[in-house]
Amino acid sequence: MSSGEQAPLLNGASEHAQQQEATHKRAKRVASGLLLLLFIGGLVVALWVFEDGLPSNPGKAARKILDRAPVIDGHIDLPILVRSLNGNNIDKVDLNGDFPGHVDIPRLRKGRVGGFFWSVYTSCEDSGVNFTSPTNSVRDTLEQIDVARLLIEKHSKTFSFATSVQDIKLAIFSKKIAGMLGIEGAHQIGNSIPALRQFYALGVRYMTLTHSCHNAFADSAGIFEPPAPVHGGLSALGVELVREMNRLGMLVDLSHVADSTARHALKVSRAPVIWSHSSARAVHDVPRNVPDDILKLLGKGKGKKDGVVMVNFAPFFVAAPGNATVEAVADHVDHIGNVAGRKHVGIGSDFDGINDVPVGLEDVSKYPDLFAELYKRGWTARDLVGLAGGNLLRVWEGVEAVARELQERGERPSMARYDKREDLPHEEL
Ligand SMILES: [Zn+2]
Repeated sequence: MSSGEQAPLLNGASEHAQQQEATHKRAKRVASGLLLLLFIGGLVVALWVFEDGLPSNPGKAARKILDRAPVIDGHIDLPILVRSLNGNNIDKVDLNGDFPGHVDIPRLRKGRVGGFFWSVYTSCEDSGVNFTSPTNSVRDTLEQIDVARLLIEKHSKTFSFATSVQDIKLAIFSKKIAGMLGIEGAHQIGNSIPALRQFYALGVRYMTLTHSCHNAFADSAGIFEPPAPVHGGLSALGVELVREMNRLGMLVDLSHVADSTARHALKVSRAPVIWSHSSARAVHDVPRNVPDDILKLLGKGKGKKDGVVMVNFAPFFVAAPGNATVEAVADHVDHIGNVAGRKHVGIGSDFDGINDVPVGLEDVSKYPDLFAELYKRGWTARDLVGLAGGNLLRVWEGVEAVARELQERGERPSMARYDKREDLPHEEL
C-alpha cells in the first residue's frame, strides 16, 4: 500500500479520534458547567439566607460565611520556607501534621481556606542599570514550581492544582483547597518574554512585575526607601511584557512596584490587575503600600480599571512597631474599601514569608477573626464574600475574557527582547 492511499484513511481515523475527543471535552465542559451553576446557585441562596439569618455573634457569623465562601489568599510563601528548612526535599515535608511556619493542612481547614497562590519566589539582586548579568533565578524559580506542584500532588486529598477560575470553583465545590502559582518579580523570568510564556505553560497565573529590585521591564518600590528610578515606570519592553501577559491571561501583579510603574501598568494593561499582597499607604506610610491616588484608579468608568488589592499582614507594612494587630489589618481593609470600594479588596497575607505576625493573625487558622472584626464594623455578608475571594475571582474572570478575545482576534506572541542582550544577533537575517 502506498503512503498516498494510507493517508486519507489515517486522516479519517484521526478526524474520528478528534471528533470523539471534542465530544468528550464538550461533555466534560457541560458537566463542570452544571456543577458550577449548582455551586453559584448555592452561593446566591446562601447569601440570601446570610443577610436574613446570620448569628449576631461576629465570630459565628464570620465562620458561617467562610464555610460557604472560603478564603482565597493571594500570597503564601510556603515554597521558599520548604527551600530554607528542607532544601526543597518534599519527602521531609508532611503538611498533614504540625508544620513549622504559618501554614499546614489542619490550620488551613480551621481558617476556612478554599485556595491560595503558592508564591514561587526567588530573591533578586540589585544589578544597576544593566540587567544582563547571569543569575540562577530561572533555575531556582523552576525548582520552586517543582516544590509547589509536588506538594500539591503529595497532598492531593486536600489540594487541587488550579490554573483557572473554573478550576478554583470546582476545587471549592469538592471541598478541596485550590493551589495556584504566582511568580514574584520579572527577574525570575530572566528578563525574557519567551521565558514568561513557558512559565505560563507550567501553570503560573500571576507575575509581580518587580520584587524589591528594578529589572529590565519596570521600576520597583524597593524595601524601605524607593531606589533611584531607572525607567520611570515601565520600560518599552515592560509595556510589551504587560501586553503579552494580557494576551496569555497572566494576572498582572502590582505589589512591590514603584508608584510610577503601577500608574503606567494601569494605563497600558488591557485587562484588570491585582496587588497580590499590599496594604494601604494612608493607614501606614511605607512605599510597599498602595497610595490613595492609585486606589482611586480602580473601578468602572473613564480612566479606571477593575482590580483587587489583597491586604498584606506583614507587621512592618501594617503599623508602627508593636502596633500590628488584627484590628490594624482590618483598618487597611476598611480603608481600601472606602477609597476604592469594597469590591476591590482581598486577602494576601504573606504568611510563611514574614518572620513576625500581627497579634490575633498568627497563622492561616486566624482568618475568621479578621472577618469577624469587619462584620462588627458593618461589613455585610456580600462584602465579606467579595473580600474572601469573590473579588479576586471577578477580576481573574475579566483577565481570562480579555485573553480569549485577544487570542480570537489573532494577536501574535510578542517577539520583543531586552535590547542590551549580546547573545542574540541585533540584526535579523
Ligand atoms: Zn512580597
